[in-house]
Order: sequence, then C-alpha cells, then structure tokens
Amino acid sequence: MASDTFALHHVGKVYGNGTIALQNMDFTVAPGQFVSLVGPSGCGKSTVLRLLAGLEQPSQGRIDRPVLERCDQLSYVFQEPALLPWATVIENVALPLKLGGQSARQRREAVAEVLAKVGLTEFGTAYPRELSGGMRMRVSIARALVTQPQVLLMDEPFGALDEITRGQLNGELLSLWQRQQWTVVFVTHNLYEAVYLSSRVVVMAAKPGRSIADIAIDLPYPRHPDLRTSPLCNRYCRDIAHLLHPAP
Ligand code: ADP
Repeated sequence: MASDTFALHHVGKVYGNGTIALQNMDFTVAPGQFVSLVGPSGCGKSTVLRLLAGLEQPSQGRIDRPVLERCDQLSYVFQEPALLPWATVIENVALPLKLGGQSARQRREAVAEVLAKVGLTEFGTAYPRELSGGMRMRVSIARALVTQPQVLLMDEPFGALDEITRGQLNGELLSLWQRQQWTVVFVTHNLYEAVYLSSRVVVMAAKPGRSIADIAIDLPYPRHPDLRTSPLCNRYCRDIAHLLHPAP
C-alpha cells in the first residue's frame, strides 16, 4: 500500500556464500508504528533492517519504501554506540550534520536541542570514555535523531546494557517516540522488551529466516513501567515464547 512506510512482498535474501537468510518475508509498517522483530540469532532480523535501509537488495520479491525518498529521513542505531573516542559528545552528535554540510551555527542549535531531549545537556564536552554504557547509548540515539529522521531502525540497541539501564532507556525511547511519532523498526531477542515497546511484534524463525506471526500489541500508550509485569503483558510474552519455542 502506498501509505505504508515499508512493505515487503515475498522477500527472499540469499547471500553470496549461499546462506538463505530470508525466505518469503511479507510485512508492512505503517507510518508512526513501533514494530519489533523478535527471533533467535541468525533468523534474519538484521538482514531485514539492512534491506529496509537499502544497504542490501532482496534476492527475491520487492520492498516498497515510499516515505524514504531522501536518505536523511532514516537513521540507524546499532548495539554498539560506535562513537569517535577522540571527539566530545557534541562533536559526535554533530557528525552527521557536519557530513551533510550544515553550518556551525545550525549544528550548534540542532545538537543542543537533541542533547536536551536525551538528557545529556550537561555532558556535551565529555568524551565517550567518561560516560557510562547507558549514556554512550543516549549519545548514539542523539546522533541518530539529530537529522530529524522520520524512520528509526534500531538493531538491538540496548542488548549490551544491564537490565536496569535497559528498562530506563526503554521508557525514554517510548516517550521520545510518542512526542515525535517517528516510525520505528526495532530488533531485539528480548521478547519482554519487544512487547513493552511495540505496537506490533513480528515473530521470526530461523533456517530459513521467515516471519511466523505478526501480533498487534493492544496495550495503550503511554505505557507505565509497571505494565512490564502486568498479566496482560505477560500473556503476550507467553504467547510469543510459545511461538519461539513450540512444545515438542
Ligand atoms: P539475526 O540478526 O537474526 O541474528 P542476520 O540477519 O544477522 O540474523 O543473519 C541471518 C543469516 O544470514 C545468518 O545465518 C547469518 O550468518 C547470515 N549472514 C548475515 N550476513 C551475511 C553476509 N554478509 N554474508 C553471508 N551470510 C550472512
């Protein structure tokens, strides 16, 4: 459909070494949705993100990306914050704008705004080594947001963080998303995180990578942290766990 941000039609991906990473993958992402992909390692989650970003081409099928006519409408966040160690927080966050040719004044204003959003105003002159893992991830998210993308692709962004920091950043990401209404496609193997964050969860299986369920998470936003341990949330998690680990 033309109104979707992304639509995958029978998409397959075979890598050069013969690995069938994806087979017959169909799903759509509507503007403003928060969609998570969950599944075991190797089921093709990152491949889907790379295909959505246009970094890889499908071997079969078709991908429609009507919203992404200009590449700066999309940002990518990885598990590793991948910050420049010799550059300050401000310089790291400003990098995409500098590469895009924005003036020093434009960069200063945009970086100040985004650092305020992620709660790092006080740390602009700090270096990555002076920050905790959670703060480094906030810098990475700020760098992704500074170009004001409409679409955010996130590949296990909180996978390397401790549980408490992960929970905190989940909440911060949700409140930013609710204010900005970007479209988010979020990869995780943590199904509790997927249910808590998402409007939809696409469950994937491996060998070959494919979608086995597409579940609407019918829980209202804003989502309070207590929702994580609520019976409703647990029911979604249990259903997804059964899909991921069917009884023998
Ligand atoms: P996931 O993100 O779910 O862990 P990936 O998309 O990274 O899965 O990988 C899916 C499958 O494709 C895996 O078997 C992986 O080894 C393989 N794969 C990923 N990237 C490449 C590549 N560039 N070349 C060959 N095989 C790859």
